[in-house]
Amino acid sequence: MIQVENLHKKFGKTEVLKGIDLTVAEKEVVSIIGPSGSGKSTLLRCMNLLEDCSSGRVIVDGHDLTDPATDINQVRTDVGMVFQQFNLFPHMSVLDNIALAPVQVRGWSRQQAEEKATSLLAKVGLEEKATAYPQQLSGGQQQRVAIARALAMDPKVMLFDEPTSALDPEMIGEVLAVMKELAQEGMTMVVVTHEMGFAREVCDRVIFMDDGVIQEEGNPTEVFQHPRHERTRVFLSKVL
Ligand code: ADP
Ligand code: MG
Repeated sequence: MIQVENLHKKFGKTEVLKGIDLTVAEKEVVSIIGPSGSGKSTLLRCMNLLEDCSSGRVIVDGHDLTDPATDINQVRTDVGMVFQQFNLFPHMSVLDNIALAPVQVRGWSRQQAEEKATSLLAKVGLEEKATAYPQQLSGGQQQRVAIARALAMDPKVMLFDEPTSALDPEMIGEVLAVMKELAQEGMTMVVVTHEMGFAREVCDRVIFMDDGVIQEEGNPTEVFQHPRHERTRVFLSKVL
């Protein structure tokens, strides 16, 4: 579903991704862990063209994102993204936040988009919040709306960039539960997270990034219990 080949990304003279190779299979759930500044967000952003690549290739569901002929809007509908900050539209109801893109980008009828939004709200456990505004919701509820909004486009892949890092501890579980359900339903997911429990329990594969490269990857047992590299050990000793 996702194929990253020898991806390099520079900001000015600073190279923050130094040759990333990564393949994510359909229905696979991959977590990316690693210290702050190691390039995790930049890598995710290159997977939906929020950043362009300096060199290398990123292919999502057969579309080469580095090919100038590729339709950016098509890529953005195929790749849903959820951020640390929920980025909901504050002046719109929860329902409108979710229904907006399907109407504007997919050309759905208002009614069709609202039906979809309603069923997604039920899926994330917030049916009764359809007419509420974002600031009337808790952080955990807002993030669940943000997930529903990303799902409204029927994406083929979901990218999560530290989706629980801005939440109070008691709200983290409700967001992780929605993500876990999504994973069990077979969504292809790439999740940058500090939630090692989630990475261990839910993910098929864990990738440890440091200093712009993938230092180590493997199934959760391998990476958490038998890390091969010293840098991985040092990082895990700080977060576990
Ligand atoms: P992480 O998500 O692992 O914390 P990032 O991908 O956000 O790491 O950042 C990797 C490096 O790239 C950092 O040194 C950061 O300062 C730098 N960086 C990220 N975005 C930009 C940008 N738009 N311009 C310049 N430098 C950036
Ligand atoms: Mg980041």
